[in-house]
Amino acid sequence: MKKVKKIHIIAVVLVISAVIAGILFANRSPEPEKITYNQFLQAVEYGNIGNVYLGNSDLIKGEYKNGKTFVTDNPRKEDLKEFLLMKDIEVEEMTESIQGEQLLSMVFTLGVFGVLIFVVNRNVSKQKQGNVGKSFFNAVLPENVNVNFSNVAGNEEAKESVQELVDFIKNPEKYTRYGARLPRGVIFYGAPGTGKTLMAKAVAGESGVPFIAVSGSDFVQVYVGVGASRIRDLFKKARSYGKCVIFIDEIDALGKKRDGADGGGNDERDQTLNALLSEMSGFQDNEGIVVIAATNRLDILDEALLRPGRFDRHIEIQLPDVKSRLRILELHARNKPIDKGVSLEKLAQQTVYFSGAKLENLLNEAAILAAKRSSGYINADDIDRAFYTVIAGAEKKDRSTISEQDRRLTAFHEAGHALVTKFISPENRVSRVTIIPSTKGAGGFSMNIPPDRMYHKKKDMENSIKIALAGRAAEELIFGEENITTGASNDLEKATETLLNMIRRFGMNSKSGLLNYDVLYNNGFHQVQNEILEECKARMDMLYNEVKELLAKNIKILEAVAESLLSLETLDEKELDLIIQAFRKAG
Ligand code: ADP
Ligand code: ZN
Repeated sequence: MKKVKKIHIIAVVLVISAVIAGILFANRSPEPEKITYNQFLQAVEYGNIGNVYLGNSDLIKGEYKNGKTFVTDNPRKEDLKEFLLMKDIEVEEMTESIQGEQLLSMVFTLGVFGVLIFVVNRNVSKQKQGNVGKSFFNAVLPENVNVNFSNVAGNEEAKESVQELVDFIKNPEKYTRYGARLPRGVIFYGAPGTGKTLMAKAVAGESGVPFIAVSGSDFVQVYVGVGASRIRDLFKKARSYGKCVIFIDEIDALGKKRDGADGGGNDERDQTLNALLSEMSGFQDNEGIVVIAATNRLDILDEALLRPGRFDRHIEIQLPDVKSRLRILELHARNKPIDKGVSLEKLAQQTVYFSGAKLENLLNEAAILAAKRSSGYINADDIDRAFYTVIAGAEKKDRSTISEQDRRLTAFHEAGHALVTKFISPENRVSRVTIIPSTKGAGGFSMNIPPDRMYHKKKDMENSIKIALAGRAAEELIFGEENITTGASNDLEKATETLLNMIRRFGMNSKSGLLNYDVLYNNGFHQVQNEILEECKARMDMLYNEVKELLAKNIKILEAVAESLLSLETLDEKELDLIIQAFRKAG
């Protein structure tokens, strides 16, 4: 926007100068009269000529005594000057004759250029200074970063990961002494409004260092080369502070994967990205500068950004579950007079899929409504009305019955995964089950896999397939075959891949025995294709039925876990174990 304005100003200045110049010259220098050489000689004879300019050109220019000007052909006679001088005519000889008007026009042109250069220069130098606080930087000094971890509710896992960053910024020497390579770039990814900016600021606040915020879009859509030079300015500024946190919001604006539509390359963007990467690799390990970038989606970023030594730490900032929502609400209710009749617990339950920003917005709207009534307190009615203001325009999903159905389905699906894991491979820890969607898809459960055990033994491979199938199996068991959903597509992909490997490559199949199907195929036994397909189908069906049976036998536990998920949204391992144990004792 600013750029456009400046270009406008320059254009306006140019047009105005052109008009002024036109008017000036039109008045000051009327076209000289063209006369023949004979007419000229006559005028000389009559004593009408005031002065004459003789140049190298083919023309003689001159002025009558009455001030009018004329031109005529130059015969290039050697004694012409003498002849004129004898008639008392002033003669000037110049290689490039400069007349008064020309001189004036030159001065004027120079003046216009001068002004232009001045204007442009001023803009450039303004850009160069970075114009702290206004243009593309937003630098906050440590004493003014008034945010720390206590201002970020929920997101405990992310906070834990981030805690390490704080320690590193505070005491880089502690790590470099052990030869540790310190994180230079961290990416926060997650839905909009989940508090990525807030968390980055809290890192600066906790570390007591300045916070410099920019947006990826500050580096694009400007003149070629400006993006890269802005990057260099940014880091120069950062270095001048010593330690600091640089926050780049919307990193995807400059670090998106290259796609075909670009025609393979966008020079300006590549230059900018390269400048960023080279600045980052230029850090000394003990410098204590950390770059935190935020994006809604990790998967659209250029791999070049994600390599070791660059943005190699990825921390997911999640949508809050009901517990975290309550904490966020409590946090933002602190400075607001909330009526006793308002239950924040209930509000937390009603605000499924709300981000932290949306919750904050909700309380703010309610406060505005209360202020309008000047009633002194924010009551349940204000909150209710604010709720509908905030979700107006948002997807209806938030409160419709469809969403409730979705939630139930997700709850059973995730409960299925978690329970089957607990039943068939208790050595794998289920660290978390949730029905809150993440950037990776709907719901999710995370399993800590002992790294060097999984996928090696046949039994482990089969178990991992069963765990993957358990989501779909639970759906079918509870809601019937006609109501199964697409939610299992990732699971099925993983299961199929594992199974195919077992059968094709690892000789883990009774029919083919130890034969490696890939080798067979490469040696011309193409008929094995059908055999592989049949084997895979048969084995997958078998495993799926085993999983369904297992869940059917434990349907009470499945229901209990799903119901807990519906009310709590997230279960950790302890809570899951408690439910299972309760039933084991009972049964
Ligand atoms: P993002 O950068 O992920 O889009 P922001 O950090 O800009 O989100 O969040 C906007 C606002 O929402 C914050 O300033 C804060 O008021 C509120 N908010 C979001 N998440 C949280 C949270 N976890 N705890 C407290 N407030 C939050
Ligand atoms: Zn699943």
